[in-house]
Amino acid sequence: MDHISEVLPHDVHNATLVSNVHPIDWQNPEPVARYNLVVIGAGTAGLVTAAGAAGLGAKVALVERHLLGGDCLNVGCVPSKCIIRSSRVYADLKNGKQFGLRIPEGTEVDFPAVMERMRRLRAKISYHDSAKRFQALGVDVYLGEGRFAGPGMVEVGGKTLRYKKAVIATGTRPAHPAIPGLAESGFLTNETVFSLTERPRRLAVIGGGPIGCELAQAFRRLGCEVILFHSSSHILNREDGDAAEILQQSFIRDGIRLILDCQTKRVEKKNGEKVIHFQCQGNEEGVAVDEILVGAGRAPNVEGLNLESVGVKYDQREGVGVNDRLQTTNPSIYAAGDICLKYKFTHTADATARIVIQDALFGGRKKQSALTIPWCTYTDPEIAHVGMYERDARERGIAVDTFVRPLNEVDRAIADGEEEGFVKVHLRKGTDKILGATIVARHAGEMISEITLAIVGNLGLRALANVIHAYPTQAEAIKQVADAYNRTRLTPFVRRLFTQWLAWRR
Ligand SMILES: Cc1cc2nc3c(=O)[nH]c(=O)nc-3n(C[C@H](O)[C@H](O)[C@H](O)COP(=O)(O)OP(=O)(O)OC[C@H]3O[C@@H](n4cnc5c(N)ncnc54)[C@H](O)[C@@H]3O)c2cc1C
Repeated sequence: MDHISEVLPHDVHNATLVSNVHPIDWQNPEPVARYNLVVIGAGTAGLVTAAGAAGLGAKVALVERHLLGGDCLNVGCVPSKCIIRSSRVYADLKNGKQFGLRIPEGTEVDFPAVMERMRRLRAKISYHDSAKRFQALGVDVYLGEGRFAGPGMVEVGGKTLRYKKAVIATGTRPAHPAIPGLAESGFLTNETVFSLTERPRRLAVIGGGPIGCELAQAFRRLGCEVILFHSSSHILNREDGDAAEILQQSFIRDGIRLILDCQTKRVEKKNGEKVIHFQCQGNEEGVAVDEILVGAGRAPNVEGLNLESVGVKYDQREGVGVNDRLQTTNPSIYAAGDICLKYKFTHTADATARIVIQDALFGGRKKQSALTIPWCTYTDPEIAHVGMYERDARERGIAVDTFVRPLNEVDRAIADGEEEGFVKVHLRKGTDKILGATIVARHAGEMISEITLAIVGNLGLRALANVIHAYPTQAEAIKQVADAYNRTRLTPFVRRLFTQWLAWRR
């Protein structure tokens, strides 16, 4: 199959990956008379919907045109986190002197080996998303392009699947910015960058959002000269400003050249180089690189689904329109994951799949607006967030009290040499109700779950002060924020009462 040969390079790891997530000799099953659920797209949203529904006894068909596992397994979370891990190890080694270590001269990155490790681990993880595993779970797996063929029908590979309910889980693809000359010069996206086997000497990254930042730092630490273009005046401009500033300084220390608040005008290919022309404060400049990696937004996979034939409304930028219960404008058709969500993460694809199972199959009333969604950008340090930012609260006219604990006051962070960062918690003014939090720390993604749990469980910050945290851990910063809140409850009047009581008890 042609598109499967795009999984490059052709090696034993990618052969294992493909044998799991798009077996070349796969025979599509014969459709049953009618499915409870037909799911189009087998990324996280589709896989979780299919497995969950089949586990509850539904007859489910899952349709995938490319690789089961979708972006996350194949060209997203998994490969990016593998190379980020290698890049962190090398950054730590280079920093070894600070830890009292003598690192041998000539310790260097073996780029092909880093990429091979990534392919090996991705192949290992791919079993979880494999066609055979889903078949064993009782799901009818169809490989091929799915499209609606009129009410109650989906077509794939010449077969017609009849359904009671359908789910659109077709995800997104990288958006291609309209920069003149870019397409002609050639560029990488998340769909191709993980196929690299040789390190580009000079890499331009277009886009300073989460994907661009994670990959820019990883490739810089793996030895590329990296130039990061971002149209705003700050990288990660949607994040908490203090958090993004810490990361920006870390990027500068890493030696990433930041070109901010500028417009990329055109790209030209010249003597085997790619020259990016950009405009900053009225001046036009050019910079030559070997590769360009674009991480500038996502475009929804709505084309070819024949959505008009089933009355499903969609937008070329925003994707498929859904109500709070993830129902499209056709009440028999639901959507889950990136195709319909503002917050495009694997864990939101998973969470919305679970809502769809309950609402589509069991008449549930679960709502996406009730979800508390954390997220994390896996840079070094990581930036994790949940709930409101201060600006969100301000826009909604909600007054907040903010408590911050810098990591340079946390014993474990000092011992780890990871003092840059903080835990910041916003409370509804005058109460201990947690509205939102940002954590900047090396493993902020691990730490944010505690605050997410508190929000979901409706626990105030006071409750977190009562949670004993193992010493020494960086998560103690959360307890220390809670302690700081508790201290504000000790008003002069209460203190006076305590003093009198204790004097009387002497
Ligand atoms: C570089 C990168 C790093 C990321 N890192 C993280 C991270 O660390 N953490 C995190 O939470 N998120 C991360 N994400 C986001 C995450 O990958 C997505 O949110 C997640 O994959 C969305 O899952 P999905 O099922 O909605 O869509 P997808 O994973 O895009 O899956 C959709 C599937 O539908 C298939 N399809 C499309 N049209 C059809 C059709 N007509 N017929 C049949 N099949 C079709 C596609 O081939 C695809 O397999 C990252 C993304 C990128 C690009």
